[in-house]
Amino acid sequence: MSVAYIALGANLGDPAATVNAAFTALAGLPQTTLTARSALYRTAPVGIVDQPEFINAAARITTDLAPEALLDELLAIEQRFGRIRAERNGPRTLDLDILLYDELVIDTPRLTLPHPRLHLRAFVLYPLADLATDLALPGRGSLAAWLPAVANQGIIRA
Ligand code: ATP
Ligand code: CA
Ligand code: CA
Repeated sequence: MSVAYIALGANLGDPAATVNAAFTALAGLPQTTLTARSALYRTAPVGIVDQPEFINAAARITTDLAPEALLDELLAIEQRFGRIRAERNGPRTLDLDILLYDELVIDTPRLTLPHPRLHLRAFVLYPLADLATDLALPGRGSLAAWLPAVANQGIIRA
């Protein structure tokens, strides 16, 4: 069994309902148990600012899926929710990223772990801190140490 942390984000349709349904979808994955879910957070969009605000959250799972198999399952859930893949950081029905998978550090064309931008994003760090305040980010110190640097990014508990 491995422990993985997943980021959930949505900003089209009813994003809070989508994120809640995505938690249920994670709980239904094969060889996987959903062990914790964060609060929902409301965040201003990054990059392209002329789009609806995001709802973000994080989940902790235990799983026997290998990292690449887990990624395949997450992409399949995104497809089920009707994600249209357009511009990077643009509007999407649902985005599911693997933030951490045990202490694994990998960098392949399909999958980078830990997620390469997780420590820079309030919309990832705050939900993640709900799940484990004393979390260590492989190669990047503690989660708690990164929080002050992103405190100026607009984020509120939904
Ligand atoms: P960002 O990575 O900055 O959050 P994004 O989530 O909008 O951007 P996507 O278009 O959803 O990017 O994903 C592009 C590709 O990133 C995916 O098809 C996947 O192969 C790859 N990828 C690499 N590392 C990860 C990871 N840790 N979790 C999810 N996808 C990843
Ligand atoms: Ca993402
Ligand atoms: Ca993604």
